[in-house]
Amino acid sequence: MSDNNRLRIAIQKSGRLSKDCQDLLKQLGVKLNLREQRLIAHATNMPIDVLRVRDDDIPGLVMDGVCDLGIVGENVLVESQAERQAQKLNANVTKLAKLDFGYCRLALAWPQELGQQPLSWFEGKKIATTYPEILKQFLKAQGINASTVLLSGSVEVAPRAGLADAICDLVSTGATLEANGLLQGETILESNACLIQNPAMDNPQKQALLDTLLPRLKAVRQAKESKYIMLHAPKSRLDEICELLPGTGKPTVLSLAGTDDLVALHMVSSETLFWETMEALKEKGASSILVMPIEKMME
Ligand code: ATP
Ligand code: MG
Repeated sequence: MSDNNRLRIAIQKSGRLSKDCQDLLKQLGVKLNLREQRLIAHATNMPIDVLRVRDDDIPGLVMDGVCDLGIVGENVLVESQAERQAQKLNANVTKLAKLDFGYCRLALAWPQELGQQPLSWFEGKKIATTYPEILKQFLKAQGINASTVLLSGSVEVAPRAGLADAICDLVSTGATLEANGLLQGETILESNACLIQNPAMDNPQKQALLDTLLPRLKAVRQAKESKYIMLHAPKSRLDEICELLPGTGKPTVLSLAGTDDLVALHMVSSETLFWETMEALKEKGASSILVMPIEKMME
């Protein structure tokens, strides 16, 4: 039975974003039973339902209000918005946050044996892609007339198979392009996973839940970027040592049992401590230097 007060979140069922999405929900405190191969997973500790679908379906589900929230690559979001606009369908979503996973680039590539080519080489060429709308907008903006061939997978084999002269595909390391004898050119879009919301969501209970989740999301991100630094320092060189510590936060100074010369310094830093800084700290008499990850923090 569907309960209209439960917040519905669409995530990718299986693919590159699935694990990160599940981890993120867990970090936000959402307890899910994902063992079963079901389309909908109900959270056991909050009024949240998670729909597990193909990533291509996520923007539409959120735009149509079937789901309140979705996590999807910006590449899929931008393409689907352009596609829906072309069909005169509602394409409104609110982007709540850019997430720190799912990074990739949508880039042009062509057979290596042709060597470096200027953008003008694409004039009159046939380009295979899964992202025809983003590609068409890019070509239009560059004043290039080229045709697109829509392929939903294995785009990188299109030139060799004689289906196209070049491709426009997602790249993260470039290894797949290289393995297929392709040379990477212009990046036309950089993408991360993002959290989107249906802007028409007007249920106060769902809004209250979202207002709890968003600060948690910010806190998770802050914790990931921060480090807890601890070290022992000679009292006489405290100022010099503090000057070397990263960030603007002031450390906590604690006395150490059994010694009057040494103190313990603790601080939360928004940056990590690089080896060079640790070595410089050691030269100034610091010892027992620890840099630790932070699991959660709230300011
Ligand atoms: P689905 O079955 O859900 O449609 P898919 O095959 O379309 O899955 P995946 O390959 O799992 O999609 O990629 C999902 C998303 O991961 C991409 O849309 C993109 O945002 C991101 N991504 C990150 N790195 C890459 C990469 N190297 N290649 C492709 N996508 C990547
Ligand atoms: Mg897909």
